[in-house]
Amino acid sequence: MVEKQIIARGITDPLVIQAMLKVPRHLFVSEALVDSAYGDFPLPIGEGQTISQPFIIAEMTQGLTLTGQERVLEIGTGSGYQAAVLSRIVYRVYTIERNNTLYLRTRKLFDRLKYHNIVTRYSDGTQGWKAESPFDAILVTAGGNRIPEPLVNQLVEGGRLIIPVGGLHSQELLRIERTGTGIRTANLGGCRFVKLIGEHGWPS
Ligand code: SAH
Repeated sequence: MVEKQIIARGITDPLVIQAMLKVPRHLFVSEALVDSAYGDFPLPIGEGQTISQPFIIAEMTQGLTLTGQERVLEIGTGSGYQAAVLSRIVYRVYTIERNNTLYLRTRKLFDRLKYHNIVTRYSDGTQGWKAESPFDAILVTAGGNRIPEPLVNQLVEGGRLIIPVGGLHSQELLRIERTGTGIRTANLGGCRFVKLIGEHGWPS
């Protein structure tokens, strides 16, 4: 998976490549899908949600330009795979899930697999996590209809936010950097994610 889908397609960040070599993706999908776990496509994880294609995970993680000391917030814990990849790179991962079934299931999985630098929370991630802010980087793994203002405000100066923004059926993957005077936005290209539902996202 890492050689053919990640390195061959231009991902170069050694921290991202190492992390994706380390995290066993098949442990984050249901038993019925274990044989497809390393395929070049997204997979269903229950509750109408999906775990992204490996390349998208690599691209988003590389887009955060991490060095290893960061505190990172993820919105949309889902299966826990993206958080696990981040946890092999950075100091601590804070991850928020709004679906209670997924939240409980994945929290248990992190305990079982001993991912001790991942902190979980059951809430609306579009509001961020004020008490633990500011964050060096924030990664949103569901598609929003706009950029949630609280997330930008909870970044350190120089902090990066990666988020898919657009319509219900397609979005643009945005990389937003908080600067001393405002924000700088780059478009990483088209993508398709499940809905980001919350106060600063789509209505439920
Ligand atoms: N990062 C996940 C991807 C899961 S899909 C993984 O690696 O498996 C996106 C997830 O975002 C879903 O689980 C969905 O329930 C969750 N989600 C959607 N809106 C949210 C919100 N406002 N706050 C937190 N989680 C949200």
